[in-house]
Amino acid sequence: MAAGDSNTISNFIRNIIEEDLRLGKNQGRVHTRFPPEPNGYLHIGHAKAICLNFGLASDYNGLCNVRFDDTNPIKEEAEYIESIKEDIRWLGFEWGDRLFYASDYFDKLFEYAIRLIKAGKAYVDDLSMDKIREYRGTLTKPGRDSPYRNRSVEENLDLFRRMKEGEFEDGSRVLRARIDMVSPNLNMRDPVMYRILHTRHHRTHDKWCIYPMYDFAHGQCDSIEAITHSLCTLEFEDHRPLYDWFINELNIHPSRQIEFARLNLSHTIMSKRKLRELVKDNYVSGWDDPRLPTISGLRRRGFTPGSIRSFCERIGVAKRDSTIDTALLEHCAREDLNKTSPRVMAVLRPLRVVITNYPEGQVEELEAINNPEDETMGTRKIPFSRVIYIEKDDFREDPPKKFYRLAPGREVRLRYAYFIRCNDVIKDKKTGEVKELHCTHDPETKGGSAPDERKVKATLHWVSADHSLEAEVRLYDHLLLKEEFTDEKDGADLKTWLNPRSLEVLYHCHVESSLRDAAPGSRYQFERVGYFCVDSVDSSQDLLVFNRTVSLRDTWARIQRAGQTQEP
Ligand code: ATP
Ligand code: MG
Repeated sequence: MAAGDSNTISNFIRNIIEEDLRLGKNQGRVHTRFPPEPNGYLHIGHAKAICLNFGLASDYNGLCNVRFDDTNPIKEEAEYIESIKEDIRWLGFEWGDRLFYASDYFDKLFEYAIRLIKAGKAYVDDLSMDKIREYRGTLTKPGRDSPYRNRSVEENLDLFRRMKEGEFEDGSRVLRARIDMVSPNLNMRDPVMYRILHTRHHRTHDKWCIYPMYDFAHGQCDSIEAITHSLCTLEFEDHRPLYDWFINELNIHPSRQIEFARLNLSHTIMSKRKLRELVKDNYVSGWDDPRLPTISGLRRRGFTPGSIRSFCERIGVAKRDSTIDTALLEHCAREDLNKTSPRVMAVLRPLRVVITNYPEGQVEELEAINNPEDETMGTRKIPFSRVIYIEKDDFREDPPKKFYRLAPGREVRLRYAYFIRCNDVIKDKKTGEVKELHCTHDPETKGGSAPDERKVKATLHWVSADHSLEAEVRLYDHLLLKEEFTDEKDGADLKTWLNPRSLEVLYHCHVESSLRDAAPGSRYQFERVGYFCVDSVDSSQDLLVFNRTVSLRDTWARIQRAGQTQEP
């Protein structure tokens, strides 16, 4: 699939929507929702769901709600709600006046529960959770009726009201749907609808001490909001009969649940529980650690909203789980950053070079192009002087074959400046380490070409020693050593699979002086090195800190080229 065209490529969800529209369902409306549980920060998997829900709504002139699934008062925190809102907006989506909470509907849900009790479709059960599990049976063993299953409507109403009034202890009773204890689908064996929890809720405070379970709350919230297509991940497929059962029994607006495959990304994890563990136990610096697949981590690392949206478009939606190569996400970042990032020169591992025939104290302003992909970004002046830094890697005392960069006696071009020739290599007497190079420049080659048309094979980036700014640069690598991590196969301990080299910090790097006032979060291409952004947390006027978003090397393009040679 090529970039940008998946909007028009049909997928199975579009087919369903279009069929519904054709049949005149929902008065021709399309209304989706994104329902995050505020128990962690959003990750790239959520971005897929966000792009899908908001994207479909916009394609069919519909609406998309954001609804916080805050039915569990124990796990939710206000910090998560704020971060989720920020991330959705940052991705480029707006919910207008359609921001809701499942807790907005607690009264309504209670009323629905009463309705089911009155219809003989729900009952209060005094069995403990353990007993309920035991009675439920297994895939191969049918369930058994609870001894409380046949309570009268009056008794159920009385007990349920008293549950709500706080008469009973946590865990002493639950409300269950009365469906079918021998159903082959375990979710239909009288699922729990309400449990007692004497816990303060972040929005309803102490009003409730009974809280609805996900399965009872979710579909009914969809229905209350008149959602037409309720998209969720595949693990809810077996819950769909229950979703439909509640809606049917209550005879309320029939939202339609459609499942799609969740996004898995190589060398990282999406589970909020696992991410939370890494954050809480300080394996990473926070939810926005640039190594995490969280939206805030990707943002801090320098990914653009556009690159994430384009990634989500490309991976499309499917009915089967799969793992996407992280290289594709990085490829999308490069594609976007290539168009938009100003180019600058930065030397990450500096080697001092003295240009011995360049006058001491002289400074020249050379003109540099800000973005060869976009002329409107203009040019800037960069200072050149007698002492400069080049990248250590760009010099070899003993150059191997095919190494065309600087070596003793060899001439190379300095980007936007001159040809220089290396005459002397100054080494540390004790360690033998190369400390400094003495070179001469050819004044005739200013701007990068020689009047006698002699060629050089390499162009190096550089910065002026006196004018450049010192910076700290953080290089990132995969979070996990393993391509795919699953609890079942790999044991629950993710920590043993953390990549010990996921972060490399370089100190005393040198960046060109135009970056002096670089704003936090701004993105650049360091020529020949990669895409970097100013760290929004740790960078300051005193010390610039950069995060490497991606290197320039495009492993995805390579993977694709390799693939193409096999395919006709
Ligand atoms: P986690 O297992 O990470 O806690 P979750 O599904 O419990 O994820 P929610 O906050 O409930 O997280 O998810 C909100 C929405 O995002 C749901 O509709 C869910 O299906 C979707 N979603 C979550 N993870 C992914 C993923 N990896 N790929 C696609 N959609 C996802
Ligand atoms: Mg969930």
